[in-house]
Amino acid sequence: MRKLLSRWCLNSCQEGKVGSFFQTLEIRKPAFKKRNQLDLENKTEQRLDADGTGKDHPSSGRKERQPSKPDYPFPHGETFKKEFFFRKGKRLMAGYAGKIMAVDLTNKTIIYKPFEEELISTYIGGRGINSKLVYDGLKDKTDPLGPDNIIVFGAGPLVGTIAPAAGRYTVSSKSPLTGLFADSNSGGHFGPELKFTGIDHLIITGKSDTPVYLYIQNDKAELKPASFLWGRDTWETEDLIRHQLGDGRIQVASIGQAGENRVRMACIINNKSRAAGRAGLGAVMGSKNLKAVAVRGSGMVNVAHMDRLKILTKEFSKKIKKEFSYTMMSEYGTQNFTMGTNVLGALVIRNWAESADYNHFDKVNPMAIRKKHYVKRKGCFSCPIACGHICEVKEGEFAGEKGGGLEHGVTTPFGVGCGISDTNSYIRFNNDCNRYGIDALEFGLMMGSIIDWMNHGLINKSDTNGIELGWGDYNGALKLLEATVNRQGFGDILAKGSIKAAEMVGGNALSYLNHIKGMNWGADDVRPFKGYLLSLATSTRGADHLRGMPTEEIFYSVIDPLKATSYDKAALVIHYQRINTLADATGLCKFATKSFLQAIGMEDMLEFYNVVTGKHIDITEFIRAADRIYNLERHMHAQEGITRENDLPIGKWANEPIQNGPFKGERIDLESFNKLLDEYYQLRGWNTETGTPDPQSIL
Ligand code: SF4
Repeated sequence: MRKLLSRWCLNSCQEGKVGSFFQTLEIRKPAFKKRNQLDLENKTEQRLDADGTGKDHPSSGRKERQPSKPDYPFPHGETFKKEFFFRKGKRLMAGYAGKIMAVDLTNKTIIYKPFEEELISTYIGGRGINSKLVYDGLKDKTDPLGPDNIIVFGAGPLVGTIAPAAGRYTVSSKSPLTGLFADSNSGGHFGPELKFTGIDHLIITGKSDTPVYLYIQNDKAELKPASFLWGRDTWETEDLIRHQLGDGRIQVASIGQAGENRVRMACIINNKSRAAGRAGLGAVMGSKNLKAVAVRGSGMVNVAHMDRLKILTKEFSKKIKKEFSYTMMSEYGTQNFTMGTNVLGALVIRNWAESADYNHFDKVNPMAIRKKHYVKRKGCFSCPIACGHICEVKEGEFAGEKGGGLEHGVTTPFGVGCGISDTNSYIRFNNDCNRYGIDALEFGLMMGSIIDWMNHGLINKSDTNGIELGWGDYNGALKLLEATVNRQGFGDILAKGSIKAAEMVGGNALSYLNHIKGMNWGADDVRPFKGYLLSLATSTRGADHLRGMPTEEIFYSVIDPLKATSYDKAALVIHYQRINTLADATGLCKFATKSFLQAIGMEDMLEFYNVVTGKHIDITEFIRAADRIYNLERHMHAQEGITRENDLPIGKWANEPIQNGPFKGERIDLESFNKLLDEYYQLRGWNTETGTPDPQSIL
């Protein structure tokens, strides 16, 4: 059975990678094939635990996945300059690989830091421990793009096990977009592979004098020259690293040109379409001259009660597939949300001008997109939902464009948000964003504001180097994207982020943005949903739905619109923020949890956690850990000067009522919203005047 599970994991890791590699490096296909054949021939039975000590590992009989020494020449004649070997890390409890690696790019040192049990019992793992490591390592008022900033990669205790949808990793840092602590979460296969190398958390500080990438292979890690990768996009980077190292199963989290050029909304991409998208953390990597982190491990995550985990996984995989949300996610991916927001009159059309009756919805709805572009489904590690859809442009201007990750957060801001109805251009835009490594949601929303600036005479063609831009003009938008990524002309202004750009444009440009704490919002119109709005307002990374969007509330609106618009939502939002925090800390995908109307609730998450780690914590302790994480993140914001007034939405959405649709006339009533904030702070135990948590609550 273990062999079967291992084989399943290996197949899962390989999915789609070899094919895409060949597409880009056709000429090298025979050599790559030979390498794989060689690997297969050389496979031997080995017993390795996460520390590489070979003691008491549950994977007895598991096939060794470590490749033999690569035999590829290094591009441009570059060779290894440094190699680092490590002392063995201390073995922690089950679920944890057992090590925290710290890389100082300035001094080119790589060490292990102590991974204490206390860190686990207080912050669980993943996003939780990441937040604590950033808190401990960040000096006051650090420049997000300076060498003193710290960037942490982390994967929670369920990651790399057979638990359903447990393949997420989190990247945490100080955001160049907001100037505040932030993190971003991604799926695919990078997180599990990081765990298989024996590492739970990776801390990166300093700045390399030349471009490098970090390669971790089990107990060995090295900084490798990356000048041959600099200037290349994330797809090429992933292929070239695998090619250089002669192993198609290496998992790569990399930046594209946007990160290299420190565009403040740059992201980190793995598996070509999985993004740690929000908050501009790709620019932090770029500022450190760190092109990529590549990982390859032959370890396996130790599970305390494997028999029970198998039963639980089977049970929840079945439950997940019975949920209506499974049908929607597997059929339409996250674009199914667009269907819902259209019905509810909660679309954001042409930068918040309208909310319903988009005139080309027949062309841009998820069914139409599926019919026209769908190729196949693709899932992250161990996920029964497989919400990722590979889409293709089959004819016309962008024929041949093919890629994954055409999410609600791409099609909404770039599509209805900019009045663009040509779905071929959606796929081109999505691929460009993934290749350049830029947050499609942030850029798409900024584009809507820029069109407003142009339409209201704040800028004109001469300001944008001749680039025309209007509602529906996808070519203009694509040109501005390219200019932004390469910091050319007006693009250099946009690369500073929408707030800075609006300040430079002047006039009332700021009033056309829609943000909270410097992060734009506009994937859904939240004006009818006061809980949703509160979750954005009190999110610990700026306006973002993945911190605690209360999905129940959106369903209220179908049954009882008055309940949807009620301001009595503080407890509901805290509940959802807890679920999302715990999913990020344990490593589960939120789309498999009750946060997105799926099967796994907070108690179930706890059961998975206890079964995997062998702990016996109760729900009170689990929730206390979630609150401790949230309070710590809020505390970091408070240290940067964030107070209650920063929890208010800013821009068009804050000032104007909904113009059409079922919620016509609905607006954000500031007095009621302030009362809601009072209630929320009280329930959280935060100071009602400043919105700051008690420092004791983070201990
Ligand atoms: S639901 Fe989608 S995003 Fe989440 S783990 Fe599965 S495939 Fe990945």
